[in-house]
Amino acid sequence: MTTNPEGLPSVIRHWIGGEPADSADGHTFPVADPVTNTPYAQAAAGGPADVDRAVSAAQAAFPAWAALGNRARANILNRIADAVEDRHERLAAFESYDSGLPITQARGQARRAAENFRYFADVIVALGEEAFRQGTDQISYVVRQPVGVAGLITPWNTPFMLESWKLAPALASGCALVLKPAEWTPLSASLWPEIFAEAGVPAGVVNIVHGIGDEAGQALVDHPGVPLISFTGSTDTGRHIIRSSAQHLKTTSMELGGKSPAVVFADADLDAALNSVVFGVFSLNGERCTAGSRVLVERPVYEEFTRRLAERAEQVVVGPPSDPATEVGALVHPEHYERVLNYIGIGRREANLIAGGSRPDHLTEGNYVQPTVFADVARDARIFQEEIFGPVVAVAPFDTEAEAIELANATPYGLAAYIWTTNLQRGHRIAHAVESGMVWINSHNVRDLRTPFGGVKASGVGREGGAHSIDFYSDSKIVHVALGEVHVPTFGGGSSR
Ligand code: NAD
Repeated sequence: MTTNPEGLPSVIRHWIGGEPADSADGHTFPVADPVTNTPYAQAAAGGPADVDRAVSAAQAAFPAWAALGNRARANILNRIADAVEDRHERLAAFESYDSGLPITQARGQARRAAENFRYFADVIVALGEEAFRQGTDQISYVVRQPVGVAGLITPWNTPFMLESWKLAPALASGCALVLKPAEWTPLSASLWPEIFAEAGVPAGVVNIVHGIGDEAGQALVDHPGVPLISFTGSTDTGRHIIRSSAQHLKTTSMELGGKSPAVVFADADLDAALNSVVFGVFSLNGERCTAGSRVLVERPVYEEFTRRLAERAEQVVVGPPSDPATEVGALVHPEHYERVLNYIGIGRREANLIAGGSRPDHLTEGNYVQPTVFADVARDARIFQEEIFGPVVAVAPFDTEAEAIELANATPYGLAAYIWTTNLQRGHRIAHAVESGMVWINSHNVRDLRTPFGGVKASGVGREGGAHSIDFYSDSKIVHVALGEVHVPTFGGGSSR
């Protein structure tokens, strides 16, 4: 049961040098929606020749874009934000239809996408460059230079927002770029060309090549004209991209998977913690890198909290993505749906299933799964260790602060952590001890765009966000200038002192 959004294209093409383009070899791939799982469009399947064309267009456009003043680039970024906001409803409808995200949450992501452009417009006009003075002898100053043509590779969860999270700082920094959107969700990216054209982004500054990861994505990673790759996706693909990038010594940023803990102490505001835990793991269909997918609960409140979590999970509204009442929509793709169901099967053997665990009875077609809660999950269980990336949560008890920290750190991942306690000293202690790039104390995932975003261990390499993003898309060049006489040893002049 689904209705096609207005203006749904039946063909999705690349965008190269400011023009729509088919693949050089004419290849396409089918794109389906996650409710009917039937193809609604054919998308161009890019390969090395298409990436090469896109990189050439970006190289040609780069010098003029890089030479533009920061204010001029910021003005264009703000116009991009305007154009995104003007298409708010269509964009959210496309995203929800293609990815299965509930429409209300897709609207939120569309707003965030516009905000990313406004934010980086502000950053680039406010940012200064450093100078270092050595008394009256020498001054050294830093010049930030855009790296050139950036390669951006993005995943299928909240695709448009995550694309904007890379596009905005790359453009703000003065890079030209080639974007390779995720093949399961290319629909919302089909709106970028009209957005960029309307905002006055010069042809060739942004190029989009659709396609399969190990064809179009790999060609971008392998292209010698792309010195930098910004990647968000799974840990395995990230590892592979780092290996491939080594050939050309590319700079890479890796935003990878997660298995983030939510640690709930007995003294916490349990109502607030419960709301946060439920939202943190079931919003965005559980397809969220920072999902608190392991809930560690202090023993005295373990039974009560786990029971209430199961009750709430049973009440979460699973339904068609386009329905404003829906809280959990359809998982993005049948392959991913099977993967999540497979993990639920593993969980049934490893732990106690206390909520969900299958397709909801009222939804007979589409990639729907009930919000699922497993209790008493052992630390070596696969559902405790591995990223499921669906509406599935593993709950386990702990007895001491030391055990809470040990359990929180007992996976290969280290993206986010959430700590619930009214003892603020303990909250800070745990925040410092937890192996993760980001921690929230008594809060769910509220972002401040100025702060570093990224993970440790298998969750990533590098940081984006705020000035970190601008650093990533720029090379810092230091210029040293003598202000007076400099003593230079006179080699070959009879004295080298
Ligand atoms: P994925 O790794 O399968 O694909 C991500 C992108 O990489 C896609 O565009 C894909 O086409 C491309 N790709 C695949 N193989 C490639 C190759 N050989 N060379 C170049 N590109 C290639 O990931 P996914 O399944 O689309 O996304 C889900 C994953 O993303 C989850 O693990 C999730 O945690 C992670 N994620 C992380 C963050 C973060 O900020 N840390 C944010 C969102 C998602």
